[in-house]
Amino acid sequence: MNNMEVLYRQVIMDHYKNPRNKGLVQDELYKTIHIKNPTCGDDITVQSKISNGVVEDVRHDGTGCSICCSSASVMSETLLGKSVDDAIKIKDAYINMLTNKEYDEEVELEEAVAYTGVRKFPARIKCASIAWKAFEGTLDESE
Ligand code: ZN
Repeated sequence: MNNMEVLYRQVIMDHYKNPRNKGLVQDELYKTIHIKNPTCGDDITVQSKISNGVVEDVRHDGTGCSICCSSASVMSETLLGKSVDDAIKIKDAYINMLTNKEYDEEVELEEAVAYTGVRKFPARIKCASIAWKAFEGTLDESE
C-alpha cells in the first residue's frame, strides 16, 4: 500500500469505530429513507433536515460492513452545513467517482475521497454508495 492508501484506510476505520452523527431522531422536520443492500447485509437509515436550502442536520443508523457504516458517517460529516446545491454536487461527484464515470474534479470531496480505492472492488461500490443514495432519497421527498 502506498501512503495515500494507508491514510484512506485510517479515515475509513476511524469513522467505522467512531461514527459521527449516528442515531436517528423523532422529529417530523426530518425526512427518513431506509435502504438495504441484500448482497452484503447492509441496512442503513438516513435522515436529513433541510432548512432554507441548507443541510442543517444529517443522521444515520444501521448495520453493515465497515465500508457501508463508515461511509454513512463520512457522508453525514461531509454534507452537514452545506447548501443543498453543494450537497448534490458533492454527492454526484462522489457517486460518479466510485462508478468510474466522469466527475467534476473541482468538487471538494473532503474525507469521502478516502473511498477512491473502492472502485477496484465492484462488489463494494454499493456498500460505499448506499448511505449517499439514501441521503439523495431524503431530498426527493422534500419538494
Ligand atoms: Zn457492505
